[in-house]
Amino acid sequence: TSAYIQAAEDTASLNSYVLLTADKALDMASDADKRMAAGNGGVLEGLPIGVKDMFCTKGVTSTACSKILDGFTPVYESTVTANMWAQGGVMLGKLNCDEFAMGSANETSFAGPVINPWDAGDGVDLVPGGSSGGSASSVAARSALLSVGTDTGGSIRQPASFCGIVGLKPTYGRCSRWGIVAFASSLDQAGPFSRDVADNALLLSAMASHDAKDSTSAATPLQDVVAAVNAGVKGMKIGIPREYRMDGMDSDVEKLWQQGQEWLKDAGAELVDISLPHTKYALPAYYIIAPAEASSNLARYDGVRYGNRIEADSLDEMYGLTRAEGFGDEVQRRIMIGTYVLSAGYYDAYYLKAQRVRRLIKNDFDEAFATVDAILTPATPSAAFPVGRKVDDPVINYLNDVFTVPANLAGLPGMSVPAGFNQAGLPLGLQVLAKPFDEASIYKVGKVIE
Ligand code: GLN
Repeated sequence: TSAYIQAAEDTASLNSYVLLTADKALDMASDADKRMAAGNGGVLEGLPIGVKDMFCTKGVTSTACSKILDGFTPVYESTVTANMWAQGGVMLGKLNCDEFAMGSANETSFAGPVINPWDAGDGVDLVPGGSSGGSASSVAARSALLSVGTDTGGSIRQPASFCGIVGLKPTYGRCSRWGIVAFASSLDQAGPFSRDVADNALLLSAMASHDAKDSTSAATPLQDVVAAVNAGVKGMKIGIPREYRMDGMDSDVEKLWQQGQEWLKDAGAELVDISLPHTKYALPAYYIIAPAEASSNLARYDGVRYGNRIEADSLDEMYGLTRAEGFGDEVQRRIMIGTYVLSAGYYDAYYLKAQRVRRLIKNDFDEAFATVDAILTPATPSAAFPVGRKVDDPVINYLNDVFTVPANLAGLPGMSVPAGFNQAGLPLGLQVLAKPFDEASIYKVGKVIE
């Protein structure tokens, strides 16, 4: 733990942490030592873990990297983090992320951008991906052994790919959402980041639980994912969706995807050409549904109950000033889009239509999984890009999520596993998808690729 605290201090210029809780970490570590000495350690005993600032942590400031929650200190602990501490995990601190997890480059945070520890050797700072940019950059920079993030449309898998580490979005309902700041409730899911596949399975086994405090939490028990890691892929059928061969995809990404298919074939898997015909509608449907839910979830930040307040003469004026000052540009954009698509007169044309598209996307996957055990795709259309390059064009940023959002819309588990590098030497990930509640298949495939 001391070594990781030191590493976090030494890499402070990456801006991965918004809060380093060094004293608390050392206390937790010494308690862990005592439990280990007494022979009753948990599965994460003594392991130092960073926590995305979307998780509420009792007595520790939790802001979702938004000015509107500046100084907010929860009096409760999220279920996922409580589960980790119950297994002996040690909290290193809170990790930077896009404001309310809205973004793909970690450039919308109130605490400023996060820098990717990787670069192409030309001195240009690269984004770590987002929204869980701090979670990915800290593990890649060795300033956290493990970390947790949230994934609403790719926010675990895309930064894992950009930073060359493993990131899993579990099945929707696998990890409790209780105590996690809500972005889009029907899509949000917490998940683990790690340097390798085995550690990832171990962390998931500690995070996951059925939780009566989250009505969408699943009672289906977690498979033995730790054992699955080394089970191999012999006889497994892996689907290769033809719609993921997209224009504008980097040729390095395309090559790596081919390479991944070869590795799986060599390890005894059978490759199956599949079709997911509604893939091209996933991104537009996501960028209606996610803002719609966000606009509703963010209504609670009214200056009365949480964080910041700008005083004014009337209540309405106080709401307006507080929200105008507290929310950044991207969050305000989402609130406007979400409010628009939910308003009377537009609801049927946008929101309802998007929900129907969502069902078609889910049906595509159901059909595919009738014949295959897992699906292999690229995780991102390109490697990490320079800080500031895409910041002014929201649509270009949204296109980053093209391979990751379908899993959220369909509730499927998905993992990005580091598979290789582009010509500039930057890491690239491949994505493995499986049926709901079949994280074991993902770990089997991921282990062959890493
Ligand atoms: N980049 C996507 C968005 O901005 C996904 C974010 C996420 O998964 N939290 O909405």
